[in-house]
Amino acid sequence: MTDLRVPALTLRSELWIGGRNVPSSDGGLFPVYDPADGTLLAEVADATPDDGRRALDAAAAAQPGWAATSSRTRAEILRRAWELIQERRNEVAAVITAEMGKPLSESLGEVTYGGEFLRWFAEEAVRINGRYTTSPSGAGQILVTKEPVGPTLAITPWNFPLAMGTRKIAPALAAGCTMIVKPAPETPLTMLLLAEIFTEAGLPAGVLSVLPTSDAAALTGPLLDDPRLAKITFTGSTGTGKLLLRAAADNVLRSSMELGGNAPLIVFDDADISAAVDGALAAKMRNGGQACVAANRIYVDNKVREQFTAELTDRMRDLTVGCGSAEGTDVGPLINERQRGVVAELVDDAVAKGARLLLGGRSVDGPGFFYEPTVLADIPADARLVTEEVFGPVAAIIGFDDEDEAVAAANATRYGLAAYVFTEGLDRAMRVSRAIQAGMVGVNRGIMSDVAAPFGGYKESGLGRESGSEGIEEYLETKYIALR
Ligand code: ADP
Repeated sequence: MTDLRVPALTLRSELWIGGRNVPSSDGGLFPVYDPADGTLLAEVADATPDDGRRALDAAAAAQPGWAATSSRTRAEILRRAWELIQERRNEVAAVITAEMGKPLSESLGEVTYGGEFLRWFAEEAVRINGRYTTSPSGAGQILVTKEPVGPTLAITPWNFPLAMGTRKIAPALAAGCTMIVKPAPETPLTMLLLAEIFTEAGLPAGVLSVLPTSDAAALTGPLLDDPRLAKITFTGSTGTGKLLLRAAADNVLRSSMELGGNAPLIVFDDADISAAVDGALAAKMRNGGQACVAANRIYVDNKVREQFTAELTDRMRDLTVGCGSAEGTDVGPLINERQRGVVAELVDDAVAKGARLLLGGRSVDGPGFFYEPTVLADIPADARLVTEEVFGPVAAIIGFDDEDEAVAAANATRYGLAAYVFTEGLDRAMRVSRAIQAGMVGVNRGIMSDVAAPFGGYKESGLGRESGSEGIEEYLETKYIALR
C-alpha cells in the first residue's frame, strides 16, 4: 500500500498578503485536521479584520497597475501558473487529499480540472472584446468597451479546495481584477500553496491575497462594507449566499453566487441501464457525494427500477471506503463530524418515514469521519432527503410512471443547479432537457463540468456563471462611449 501523505514541511501556514507570507496581526492560529483520522495537519495563521484591511490595501494599490498590464502579460502569468501546477501536480494533489480527504486519484483529477481554468482564462484574457456600431437614427456612434470591475473578494468552500479557487481567480486575473481569497477553514492549505505557485509564475505582489480564517463573518463583513471592494464571488451553501447577498446590497456590490443544489437524475425505461448505473455512480459518488452537482434524487421509471436499483446497489457495495492516500480507495471520509452528522440525520429521517435501506446507512467506527456507501429506495415524499442536499455517499431512489411526473418531481425544488437525464431517445432527451429548470443538464453522462462550459444555477442555486466564455464576463464592466 502506498502512503502518500504530505510531509509536514510542505504545508504553508501563514497568510499570503502583498506577495509575502505573513503571520496574522494578532499572532492567532487555528487548526486544520486530516478528516481521514482526525489528526492535526497544521496550525494556520488566523486572519483578523486588520489583515483583511491590509489585503484590501494591497489589492486596491495593485489594481490600476494590474488593469493596465497588457492582456498578453496577464495571460502568460496564468499560463505559467498552469504549467507549474502540472509540474507540481503530485504535491498539490497530496495537499488536497490531506486536508479534504478525497482519494488521491480524485485529487489528481481536481488538479487537472482546477488547473485547466488557468490555461483556459489565459486564452480568454487576450480575447476580451468590445464592439462598435451606429445608432439606428444615424445620429450617433456607439463604442462598447470592457473594463475590469476592480478588487474582488472570493469566498470558497472545502469540497474542491483547488478548483473552486481557480475557477474564480483565473477569470478575475485574466480580466485585470485583483482578488482576495478567503478559503474554507477546513481546507486553506491548497490555496496557500497556489499563492506560492502564482508568485513563482510572476504575479505581481498584491494582485492576489489568501486569507484563511476561523471567523469568516468577522473578516469579510468589513471588506463588504469597504467602498474599495468592487465585487464578491462566492461558492457555498444557499444560506450563507443569502447572508452575503444581503451584506452586498448596501454597496450594490457585483455578486456572483454558486450555491447549493438538489440535482435530480432521471432514468427512463428506454435508457441503457448499465450506462445509467455508471452515470449515477459517477454523479453520486464523485467526491464522496460532497458536490453541489451530486445526484441528490434518483428518479427511475418503475418498469426498470428493480433492475437499476439492484445494479447500482451491487456497484455501491463494491466501493472501498478508506483513507484517500491509500491505494485502492474509492470513497474517502466526509469533511468533518458535523457534516457526517447531517448525512446520518437525513438517512435516519428517510428510514423512519418508511424508506427501504438496501445498503449501508451507518457511520464507520474508528477514527476519521467515514460514512458507509448507502442506498435507499422507496423514498417517501415527505423525507428531508427529497428537499435537502445530502452531501454524502447516499443514493436515494424514487420510482415514477411517466415523463410528466418525472419532470414535475425533478423541478419541485427551490434549487436548479444540475440535472441528469438517461434515455436513448433523442427527442425525449431534448424535450426533458428543455423542461428541466436547471443551469446544467447532463444527457447520458454523470460528470459534465467542463472548463469550456458555463457552470451555474437557476433559482436559489445562484447568480451568474463560472468558466466557459461566460466566466470572464462576471469580472468585467461594460462601458458605452457615445460618439457623434
Ligand atoms: P458549509 O456549511 O459547507 O461549510 P458554507 O456556505 O457555510 O458551507 O461555507 C462556504 C464558505 O463560506 C466557507 O469559506 C465559509 O468559511 C464561508 N462562510 C460561512 N459563513 C460565512 C459568513 N457568514 N460570512 C462570510 N463567509 C462565510
